[in-house]
Amino acid sequence: MSVRTTIYVDGQWASSVRGSVIDVENPATGEIIARVPAGTSADVDAAVTAARRAFDSWSQTSYAERAEMLKGLGAALIARSKDMAATITAEMGCPITTSTRLQVSLPQMILSSYVDILEYFRFDEQVGNTLVTREPVGVVGAITPWNYPLHQIVCKLAPALAAGCTVVVKSSELAPTVAYELFDALHEVGFPAGVVNLVPGYGTEAGEALASHPGIDMVSFTGSRRAGVRVAELAAPNVTRVTLELGGKSANVILPDADLGTAVKAGVASAFLNGGQTCTAWTRMLVHADVYDEAVEHAAALSTRYAPGDPTQPDTRLGPLISATQRDRVRGLIRQAVDEGARIAAGGTAVPDGCDAGYFIAPTVLADVDPNSTVAQEEVFGPVLSVLRYTNEQQALDIANNSRYGLSGAVWSADEARALKFARRVRTGSVDINGGRYNPVAPFGGYKQSGVGRENGVEGLREYLEIKAIQR
Ligand code: NAD
Repeated sequence: MSVRTTIYVDGQWASSVRGSVIDVENPATGEIIARVPAGTSADVDAAVTAARRAFDSWSQTSYAERAEMLKGLGAALIARSKDMAATITAEMGCPITTSTRLQVSLPQMILSSYVDILEYFRFDEQVGNTLVTREPVGVVGAITPWNYPLHQIVCKLAPALAAGCTVVVKSSELAPTVAYELFDALHEVGFPAGVVNLVPGYGTEAGEALASHPGIDMVSFTGSRRAGVRVAELAAPNVTRVTLELGGKSANVILPDADLGTAVKAGVASAFLNGGQTCTAWTRMLVHADVYDEAVEHAAALSTRYAPGDPTQPDTRLGPLISATQRDRVRGLIRQAVDEGARIAAGGTAVPDGCDAGYFIAPTVLADVDPNSTVAQEEVFGPVLSVLRYTNEQQALDIANNSRYGLSGAVWSADEARALKFARRVRTGSVDINGGRYNPVAPFGGYKQSGVGRENGVEGLREYLEIKAIQR
């Protein structure tokens, strides 16, 4: 078992003030695999104080210096890739192949993108007689979830540091150990004392202390809608800037002229990626009535390729859910879906074969799902794909937009212009046409209740900047 007793404050590993602990469970086995301190409001206070102190000098460093440090961090993460992938798999159950290809490589791409952005981004711009200059917003509180435990931290750290901000990270209580490896790397790279700080802990204690702290200038939150609303409430009295990356219920719209086989296959892969615990997962597949049965059958057949199993094995494609609570919640949502008229085409609530330990759910395909039913409206966060039927394009658009969320989505058509026209009318922060590739500098974020603000690329950097107008 890995036991860490410290938090990272002011350039060093220090004891947590109270000393209570969080046991970290391996969700594939139920074993306790690590222990970290449950950070307190006193820990948060010490971290914010250190970050405030460090801000004056870090904010004055040159863009080239910051780029050099980010480059060093990228190299340090590359060197640690294998260990970090294993840690992530152990602490949150992501299949090792996905941990390697996605969980640890995405953050490396993000870091490298900000090294590039620091070269070409124009912090100063002349508008008439005004010099418009962009300055770091100040001390940033970063609160992150467990599902991509390294990536979500780096998505905030990289642009914040590039902007010249100092940061206090509050990692997730469910998957806090990879953050220690990240901070070992930050320490090794030599970020000045106080520039980066880590306080692991529970949301209700360390998270709330950070969001409400008058010493921070911005809170960047990724997690559930419920906690995001709370964070915004806590930040409001100090008029602290807030960005929120919340949940999703994304639609994968397969237009009648699309290549059905390709679209269904990609849709199934998106829905089951990381055990369905991905905010951008295309959890609602929309199929024209004429090919609906064929699509359901194909999705059900493909789901058998996602047999749940030991996530440390390279050929495992579906690991466990993060916790017993989450597994029970997903089972409840599947049962409720059936009560509300859905048909189980694959999977269901039974314990999958050979998965007696851990928190596994079989990959589940639900057919005949009503667009207004609970499973079509709530974020499930498990391997559950709902297939919905439409009869014309306008109805497909209405169903796609019939959600309080608006994070991502997909459109498939043989006619790219038709797909683009459709994509423009979907009320979400991103849409992939015919399986469009991931782009690390594309702005990422949500419409509606999926959030406020954007991460990644230049738009992600802007969130961490204040704008000053100097007339002369
Ligand atoms: P969560 O909201 O339970 O926790 C996220 C973080 O917030 C954790 O660090 C937690 O400790 C903290 N937190 C919880 N309550 C808090 C409070 N009252 N005050 C301050 N902090 C608090 O979410 P989770 O279960 O860790 O992650 C899953 C959710 O995250 C899903 O809804 C998913 O869609 C969302 N998510 C969104 C994105 C995105 O970029 N849009 C990315 C990944 C995950």
